[in-house]
Amino acid sequence: MVTKAKEKTNVWQMAQGQLDQVAEIMNLDPNIHRILRKPARELTVNFPVIMDDGRVEVFTGHRVQHSTHRGPGKGGIRYHPDVDLDEVRALAMWMTWKTAVVGIPYGGAKGGVVVDPKKLSMRELERLTRRYATEINIIIGPEKDIPAPDVYTNPQVMSWIMDTISMDRGYTVSGVVTGKPLALGGSLGRNEATAQGCIYVIQEAVQKIGLDLEDSVSVVQGFGNAGYIAAYLLKEQGSKVIAVSDSKGGIINEKGLDAHAVSKYKAETGSVVGFPGSEPISNEALLELKCDILVPAALENVITRDNASKIKAKIIAEAANGPTTPEADAILTENNIMILPDILANAGGVTVSYFEWVQDLANFFWSLGQVNERLSCIMKESFHSVYEIHKKYNVNMRLAAYVLAVGRVAEALKLRGIYP
Ligand code: GLU
Repeated sequence: MVTKAKEKTNVWQMAQGQLDQVAEIMNLDPNIHRILRKPARELTVNFPVIMDDGRVEVFTGHRVQHSTHRGPGKGGIRYHPDVDLDEVRALAMWMTWKTAVVGIPYGGAKGGVVVDPKKLSMRELERLTRRYATEINIIIGPEKDIPAPDVYTNPQVMSWIMDTISMDRGYTVSGVVTGKPLALGGSLGRNEATAQGCIYVIQEAVQKIGLDLEDSVSVVQGFGNAGYIAAYLLKEQGSKVIAVSDSKGGIINEKGLDAHAVSKYKAETGSVVGFPGSEPISNEALLELKCDILVPAALENVITRDNASKIKAKIIAEAANGPTTPEADAILTENNIMILPDILANAGGVTVSYFEWVQDLANFFWSLGQVNERLSCIMKESFHSVYEIHKKYNVNMRLAAYVLAVGRVAEALKLRGIYP
């Protein structure tokens, strides 16, 4: 895992703090503010899994639904040793804002299991997944809450969840999770969607600051689904990607890296580190490289008050959730760095998840062209809505995205009223 910077921020306090800040700016109704400060529903489960050697281990997992005011809960499931309830709460709240920024009819939710999946066999991973799915079965479903992949989960994990829930219901329930393989009702373009959405937003942003992507230099931190694909899509757009990293460290080559070749090397060796023709660089130093576009695509809390003033990028496109702390935000804004906030920049993933769910419910599937055209439309429109607020109210892009998102959720909440 990517080492977190020195400053240890509690991400849940950070997420609540962001809401508080925007509530003040937009004069949010205090009743609505109080409601949105808390997750609506939290489920913590401790469950046993039989390991391959016959031992029984007990794992802890969570599923948090922050809001279902605009539609069912939606958000990924993370398998990571650092997962805790506060992190899942923050990630769930950010999903509420994310689905609202891009205007798709969902609330926000998130799940997580405290586990290092790299230490499990495939069979152990499957048993853990099926048991966790069974434990959270009571609160998920196509109309209730729809999980998806997140850090260290993937289409295979989604297949097991889909199958487990289907076994319980007695029929195939494709729409209970998204990010499934194509053979099980997945969507074309879902695998690339987070990175692709990020690229669509970057394409709009560079125009605003007079930067030519063809002439640009990029750096990507994290080499999972979002980071790897962002790196090769950036290269396809003509940007020179000089450095990438994973949890074990980073690599740099000033002449540019071929993400496909790096990915092949990582598949063989377990890390990008040691890629032929590259020099090693730490994750911390990588963030401070001179570049035009910096894409944090790993975990939370990597751009903090300790390193924010050393960031030299012109644009930070947050493919990760919560990579920048509020203290860092203030410094970056002061230094005129354009932040493309997570709830906008990485919303492509959940947007194509929405397309997948729609296709599953309709049993009618779209071409890749249709998926990407609709994704491009939503991402670009959302960028411009956020940019307009940024200009009109002279707030940074993150606050602008929050104003848009919180406004939409607040409107839904107000219209629905408070039951009973
Ligand atoms: N885990 C992704 C995110 O943080 C995708 C969520 C989804 O598709 O529901 O946005």
